[in-house]
Amino acid sequence: MSTNPEARSWIRVSAAALRANYARVRQAAGDTTHVIPMVKADAYGLGMREVVRELAGERPWGWGVATLAEGLRLRGDLGVQNRVVILAPLQEEELEPALAAGLDMSISSLDALAAVSAAAQRLRATARVHVDVDTGMGRTGFDWREADAWIPGVAEAVGEWVDWVACFTHLHSAEDDIESVHEQWSRFQGVLSAARARNGGLMVHVLNSAGTFAVPEHACDAVRPGIFLYGGKVGSAHPAPEPVVSLRARVGHVRDAVAGTSLGYGATHVASGPERWATLCIGYGDGLPRALGNRGSALLGGRRVPIIGRISMDLTVVDITGVTGVRVGDVATLLGAEGREEILLDDVAELAGTISYEILTGFTERLPRVWT
Ligand SMILES: *Cc1c(COP(=O)(O)O)cnc(C)c1O
Repeated sequence: MSTNPEARSWIRVSAAALRANYARVRQAAGDTTHVIPMVKADAYGLGMREVVRELAGERPWGWGVATLAEGLRLRGDLGVQNRVVILAPLQEEELEPALAAGLDMSISSLDALAAVSAAAQRLRATARVHVDVDTGMGRTGFDWREADAWIPGVAEAVGEWVDWVACFTHLHSAEDDIESVHEQWSRFQGVLSAARARNGGLMVHVLNSAGTFAVPEHACDAVRPGIFLYGGKVGSAHPAPEPVVSLRARVGHVRDAVAGTSLGYGATHVASGPERWATLCIGYGDGLPRALGNRGSALLGGRRVPIIGRISMDLTVVDITGVTGVRVGDVATLLGAEGREEILLDDVAELAGTISYEILTGFTERLPRVWT
């Protein structure tokens, strides 16, 4: 069995680019603002272990996750000692394990807070809660319009079992709609003044990656960047991040196709004349979006070559007609630079009808992540 991770197809992850992007977030947020890197979904598919290893030296205030399992992995496997915040709702039976591991939690209702408080009391622990305020995202959080109804309830729950650490909100359109950002910000300010009257020491965090570049003046106590760290753009008005990932696949087969030869499921490509095809050892089973079939391209033999036919689970074919010297074992680039050509993450996402986040988190376990 081959142990070379670069034998078939793989992702290369640049630690230097990750750290450079972190430094740019750091600079935008300013010296007095903490950073909470979001490492949910295995650090957007890149590998939580390596991301934490690479960024730990920057001494972030804490790490952001979405699930109990992710928090437990940071505490257990990865030995993280600083803060870990779960920024999504937990089920009742998840509360005790989360508290026992010293994970900070977000709260969106008084019922949820009561359950957390009861679980903390059973464990004789103190729950550290971040109050989620809905200012337009809608999916979680206390309603900004009803602060008078819930702030007293939150304040009353504070005590031996509950430490009200923070108030936060989440922006829905920071990459392309500055008006909505101002609206969410002003809704949040209304809540915050009432909350601060009850708890003067509240920590406040609002901005995701796009927000950090769009409205750095609202960085508050901490920012919660994700996608920008991992090489995803945050709107056309802001500088692009350094590319962090590249995606490569080896040529597994090369053939000449005479006119009329059909290709792939559905036979959606038929050679119109003599063509030369290279079959790459990557498919949607690796996370290459199937939507790129007959649309996307690869870099091979120093040229940009089109993906032809449907992408199948394990294989993808490119048209190398007129490209000389392509051989089995050669390396094709599906994402990243080769010579003067480059295939950008956000361009691939757009072509596939999705966003960079889904491309990154869609890469499957079959693709080794090779860190450099
Ligand atoms: C995922 C997430 C972020 C990070 O967002 P990016 O757009 O990736 O920077 C920040 N805050 C919350 C609550 C999130 O769920």
